[in-house]
Amino acid sequence: MDLIDIGANLTHESFRQDFDDVLARASAHGVGRMIVTGASREGSEHALAMAQASGGRLFATAGVHPHHAVEYDDATHALIGQLARAPEVRAVGETGLDYNRNYSPRDVQRAVFERQLGIAVEVGKPLFLHQRDAHHDFFAILKRYRDRVPAVVVHCFTDNEEALRDYLAIDCHIGITGWICDERRGGHLRELVKLIPADRLMLETDAPYLLPRTIRPMPKDRRNEPMYLSHIRDEVARDRGESKDELTASSVRTTEAFFGL
Ligand SMILES: [Zn+2]
Repeated sequence: MDLIDIGANLTHESFRQDFDDVLARASAHGVGRMIVTGASREGSEHALAMAQASGGRLFATAGVHPHHAVEYDDATHALIGQLARAPEVRAVGETGLDYNRNYSPRDVQRAVFERQLGIAVEVGKPLFLHQRDAHHDFFAILKRYRDRVPAVVVHCFTDNEEALRDYLAIDCHIGITGWICDERRGGHLRELVKLIPADRLMLETDAPYLLPRTIRPMPKDRRNEPMYLSHIRDEVARDRGESKDELTASSVRTTEAFFGL
């Protein structure tokens, strides 16, 4: 059974040169389907075009990352709403709040997050969400919409146990990346992944970002790519006390149900 990467930023310029090789290497490592993250206007259009040209291997999300919230205007809102209706787009996002970098002012981030939550309600699709150092505000806003959307994944979960329990309590899914392999800032996740029910746990690379620090040999360019999802699967399986096959099977089943694959 092939793994599914729920967070691959394949529209990133670093994949332009060797896109086909990246997909071939993923296959060789047992990584089949991927959800291409849309994180900006252009990025979301590009993600959809990739999915449409992929023959069913790639799917897309449509949204604007909190880093880009200042660029979100009415035209963007209309475009994301239109893209979100495409059959290849399986979730609204990446959207959410990021108080770590604050590339966009916090009040703007909150307003833009809510507008995209509104799109998910309108089109009836799941949410693909980002939260960094913003749990309190993020959770307060999300709670108000939770009952009106079919499913929610908090992607690249990096927060603490209290935040994890809050998300599980309102029936969110959790995306785990190679952050768990970072002994400097991700060590706590090795315990926390044991608390996530198998039918709420999904795996992702967030490529080209977040190259797992335990990959050997380290690629010279430090670019993460979907083939390393198998490494993340191995580490998470070990932390949960499961076999690789068990975690592969449960995460694929969970992902297929979540994104309607
Ligand atoms: Zn993110």
